[in-house]
Amino acid sequence: MTNDLEGRIEIIRGDITQQSTDAIVNAANESLLGGGGVDGAIHRATGRELLAECRTIGGCPTGQARITKGHQLAARFVIHTVGPIWRGGNSNEAELLASCYQNCLILAREHDLETIAFPAISTGVYGFPIEKATAIAVTKAMDFLKKTPEMKKIVFVCFSGEDLAIYLKTLEAYGNSR
Ligand code: ADP
Repeated sequence: MTNDLEGRIEIIRGDITQQSTDAIVNAANESLLGGGGVDGAIHRATGRELLAECRTIGGCPTGQARITKGHQLAARFVIHTVGPIWRGGNSNEAELLASCYQNCLILAREHDLETIAFPAISTGVYGFPIEKATAIAVTKAMDFLKKTPEMKKIVFVCFSGEDLAIYLKTLEAYGNSR
């Protein structure tokens, strides 16, 4: 675990469904009706109530975000965002991934949330290279925290030890260069 921006960025290895931040972020797909990876884990942990609420939303375009209640989770809210599928890097993937982080953070601010946990959006089934994705996640978080004193903590939840090491290295690199 490491801290930066006075401890407001936290990097841990764990399961996003177990986080007790005000919101957790779901790496969803455009249907918002469940899938594999993080999405499957969140829907398994909440059962049918989250699915029922998601049905009322009617989907979400790539790069955007939608908020629901947390239902049975410790987190009060789930912010669902749809990351881009990696298609080689020339299909706006970086901008779309950046807008996922940005739109989740804007929704959190609009709902007066002080803590939020993110998974490594798009880096699973969607195939976004983890180093590139991590650089986007960390820089977006840092920029937002600098402008938003109300946001107390952004947690990055890594599923694997390899991902954890990349996040730690990235935070150190950006933290030291700014
Ligand atoms: P995407 O479809 O956006 O690529 P995935 O859910 O397939 O999303 O994977 C995103 C990342 O989340 C991957 O690094 C994956 O290992 C990780 N992951 C999978 N399950 C969990 C979980 N329960 N908590 C945190 N991270 C998870």
